Amino acid sequence: MRYLTYSMLLVLVTTILITACKDDDDSCTEITWYQDSDGDGLGNAGVSQLACEQPTGYVTDDSDLDDTGDAVNPSGTPVSAFDEFNADAVTVSFDGDEITIESNALPNHTSPYWDSSNGLYVEPVIANESQMSPGTINERSYTVTVPASPEKASTTTATGLGAIGISVTGVPIFNDEEGPNIALSENVASGFDYAGGHMGPTGYHYHLESSDVTENTVLSQNDDKLVGILQDGFLLYGRKCNATSDYPSDLDASGGHSSATQHSDGEAFYHYHIINEFYTGSYIILFGGELQGTPNSIM
Ligand SMILES: [Zn+2]
Ligand SMILES: [Zn+2]
Repeated sequence: MRYLTYSMLLVLVTTILITACKDDDDSCTEITWYQDSDGDGLGNAGVSQLACEQPTGYVTDDSDLDDTGDAVNPSGTPVSAFDEFNADAVTVSFDGDEITIESNALPNHTSPYWDSSNGLYVEPVIANESQMSPGTINERSYTVTVPASPEKASTTTATGLGAIGISVTGVPIFNDEEGPNIALSENVASGFDYAGGHMGPTGYHYHLESSDVTENTVLSQNDDKLVGILQDGFLLYGRKCNATSDYPSDLDASGGHSSATQHSDGEAFYHYHIINEFYTGSYIILFGGELQGTPNSIM
């Protein structure tokens, strides 16, 4: 009986409060606000409240699939970014929620690593000839399938030896190692061409940002150009971000952040940058951190 009285009292008080509220402000139209606990402007559809004015920490959007971390590509990887890839080497296929990138690894730039009979062969302009690795650029086959809307994983993953991404020229991107737990040395890097690449047992590949030489016309060099796509599906850009035309100051340990780029029509999405720090003298590594997304194998 006491419980019933209490319940009735509660209903009465609630009714008075609602009536009072309506009396105070006839023009108030309550709308649904969704919690945005990670502050990315996207709300969690599972946590909402009705209010006339925007409550702190709430937004009108309800599309956040992961309201615990940073914004993760709500509208997917911008498709126009794939126009930057060398069409003679790279084929990009879009299949629903997946993108497949295939490359023959033949770059559209000059190099002393081309056979001297090739039209793209040049004498070394950067490479220390005595440190150049043996072999000449030859056709290879690389294929990786990534999600069209990659997500950050709950844990980061260290990259391995071999291709960790496909660059815009079609050449595979390698990390900062030259062997199992053997960091790239300045000595080895001195044999790289101006593109930041050299030959290895599995073919020609890049480790470094390209050099500022007149021969360099297609590769990112201290700018905001697209460098390529890594095996977790996140794009890698040069040292500068198009959003600010400057070196980003909010990068995570992998060189990643969420912002718009020249490809995303104002939409923020997660992408990596070459970290603007020198590595072994004057050489800058393309990607030496851990993957923030889930790696897909590059076959
Ligand atoms: Zn190498
Ligand atoms: Zn950026």
